[in-house]
Amino acid sequence: MDILERDLLWQVKRYKQLIQITEKLHSSLDVNILLGELCVILKEVYPDFSFSLLLSQDTYTHSDFPIIDLEYDNENIAAIKAYASGELQFESSAPAKHAIIYAPLKGKQVTYGVLQIIAENTTGFHEYEVEFIRLLALAAGSSLENAHLYQQSRREITNLQLINETSHCLNSNLRLVDTMTYMSEQIISSIDAQEVGFFLFSNDHANVKILPGSTPYFYTKQAQIYIDYIKDKIELEKNPLFIGDINLQNVKNNTSYHSILGIPMIQSEELKGFSIVMHQKPYFFSFETFKLLQSLVHHSSLALNNSMLREELEHMVITDHLTKLHSRKFLDEKVQWSMNETEEGTFILLDIDNFKEINDTYGHQVGDKVLVQVANLIKRNIRGEDIGARWGGEELALYLPGVPLDKGVAVAERLVKKVSESSDPHITVSCGVSYWNKEQLDAYNNLFKRADEALYIAKGTGKNKVVIQEQNIRVC
Ligand code: GH3
Ligand code: MG
Ligand code: MG
Repeated sequence: MDILERDLLWQVKRYKQLIQITEKLHSSLDVNILLGELCVILKEVYPDFSFSLLLSQDTYTHSDFPIIDLEYDNENIAAIKAYASGELQFESSAPAKHAIIYAPLKGKQVTYGVLQIIAENTTGFHEYEVEFIRLLALAAGSSLENAHLYQQSRREITNLQLINETSHCLNSNLRLVDTMTYMSEQIISSIDAQEVGFFLFSNDHANVKILPGSTPYFYTKQAQIYIDYIKDKIELEKNPLFIGDINLQNVKNNTSYHSILGIPMIQSEELKGFSIVMHQKPYFFSFETFKLLQSLVHHSSLALNNSMLREELEHMVITDHLTKLHSRKFLDEKVQWSMNETEEGTFILLDIDNFKEINDTYGHQVGDKVLVQVANLIKRNIRGEDIGARWGGEELALYLPGVPLDKGVAVAERLVKKVSESSDPHITVSCGVSYWNKEQLDAYNNLFKRADEALYIAKGTGKNKVVIQEQNIRVC
């Protein structure tokens, strides 16, 4: 066999290998598996050479493949040149008796890294070998690109599914607390955040209100520095914030959270608030995560606004504007509920004595203040489940679900006493009390009617007192 013939056979063998290698590399859509394949192939084809992969980002790891950071301040000029130009680069050292090839792993979009091949005891590579390595690196580069694009599209599909699912859930008319809790859970599970907070600006933007659903950390004193920092920046710049390590950005305090994302919440082109997402590790969130979070927050803004508007409206309907006690409608509903769900209950109707005189003497505004004073006394003297309401005009009402008559009467008497002691200008009130229980279940209207009758008697028998209307009217 002459040299020409041997070369030819060698080339045929190499090209056959190349076809097999290309097929193998192209069949893998996982970057790490692909790097493993490449490593096995190289060891098979060049058992005497050594290999490393120089990468610009540490996104890949492979235990069999030594991976070296490719940095621009690196002294390895040939490697950088291969990366930047996309062309093979050579290095040889006579004293060290080795030759090196730097082969860029190039796709159509970018160069993913540089393959370093070191041949010992030689000063150069044969031109056929160089060509083979060039083609091999090309095949590896385009396979890497395929795997990359595939993984990226998989991630994007997952993200779109998440956004879709979130939007769907948010549009199902949740209450504010449920909307925000759901958002918070979605963010924590999808991007591995440690803390998630939602904040709303007050009308004059002087303060921010933390929204339900925020993680407990944001209610602590330590969180304030982050909240203030993000608030000021978002108000000033009106742009989302992507902070890899907040220590770098002149925050004086020794912070325990480093990675921070801040997303403005905008509704009808108006900055309404912002969301903060944090992790203790620096550079924890990727830019892709940042984009995903922006989409999630953007989609939630409308749902958030709707929930808030609905709740404001509900609050207006169930709250009296002047006294901030509940409305009569709300009280009616609660009494109905209690008559179905509890064993007993006490109802107190309270009317300010000679209120007309107060108005006539001091004016309507002072009259209003007196009414508010009485309402506040009521609020301070009842438990969470009790209901204080404005019955109408200067008549207020209390409903105490599950409370027996004697306890209810004690509440009424305490109120009568406190009003007389603490009101300014001095006023007194009269109360009519009625009661129901499961044994002598009352019609709902009768409960009110009997309290009204008792009140009438209180007014007619000297005022500043409590009258109970059971079966037989009793005067205390
Ligand atoms: P009585 O002891 O019998 O209850 O005498 P009264 O003067 O309190 O009763 P009356 O029913 O004669 O007058 C009620 C007054 O309460 C008349 C009305 O102007 C006043 N009033 C009702 N609602 C308000 C309110 O929201 N603000 C003020 N300032 N006054 C009110
Ligand atoms: Mg009155
Ligand atoms: Mg009255």
